[in-house]
Amino acid sequence: MLDADFFRRWLIACAALVDRDAARLTELDSAIGDADHGSNLQRGFTAVAAALEKEPPPTPGAVLTLAGRLLISTVGGASGPLYGTLLRRTGKTLGDAAEVTPARLAEALRAGVTAVAELGGARPGDKTMLDALEPAVEALGSADAPFAAAREAAERGALATVPMRARKGRASYLGERSIGHQDPGAASSALIVGALAEVAAG
Ligand code: ADP
Ligand code: MG
Ligand code: MG
Repeated sequence: MLDADFFRRWLIACAALVDRDAARLTELDSAIGDADHGSNLQRGFTAVAAALEKEPPPTPGAVLTLAGRLLISTVGGASGPLYGTLLRRTGKTLGDAAEVTPARLAEALRAGVTAVAELGGARPGDKTMLDALEPAVEALGSADAPFAAAREAAERGALATVPMRARKGRASYLGERSIGHQDPGAASSALIVGALAEVAAG
C-alpha cells in the first residue's frame, strides 16, 4: 500500500531529478521552444518540495492536490498548468483514502493524464508530454513490475518524440523544423515517472 509519505517522497525525488537535469531540459527547450523548461520546473518542484517538507498533508490525495496547486501557481509556462492538472486530478481521484494500492494509483493517474489531454487538446503523436505519460500509465496498469515498466515506457515514449513534428505548444510554431529534437516536456515526464519507480523500489 502507498501512503502519504510515499507520495511526499515521490515529489521530493522529482525535485531532485529536475534539479539534476534542469540544464538538459532547458537545452531541449532551447532547440524547439524558449529555453525555460528546466528553470520553470525547478521553480515549481522546489516550491513543492519545500511545502511538503514543512507540513506534509495527511493523505495521498492531499499531497498530490497541494503539489498540483503549487505547480500551477509557481511555474510560468504551459507545463505548470498541465503538470498541475495532472497531479490535482490524480489527487482528487484518490479522494481521502489514507493508503492506496498501485492499481488504484494507476487508475487515478489515468484520470490525470486524461485531464491533461483535455486541457491542452493534445493527443499522443503530437510531440508533447503526453507521448511519455500515456504509455507510462498504460504500463502502470498492466505490467507485473508496474513501476519499472512505467519508467521504461516513459523513457521510450520521450525518445520517440524525436522524429515527430510538433502539433501543440510553442514547438508547433516551428512546423517541420521541430523534427529531429526530443520534446522537453516528454523528457521531464520521463523524469517524473522515473522518480516514481525510484521511490517504489525503495
Ligand atoms: P512554455 O512552452 O510555455 O515555455 P515549458 O517550456 O515549461 O512551457 O513547457 C513546454 C512543454 O509543455 C512542451 O515540451 C510540451 O511537452 C508541453 N506542452 C505544451 N503545450 C502542450 C499541450 N497543449 N498539451 C500537452 N503538452 C503541452
Ligand atoms: Mg518553454
Ligand atoms: Mg516559456
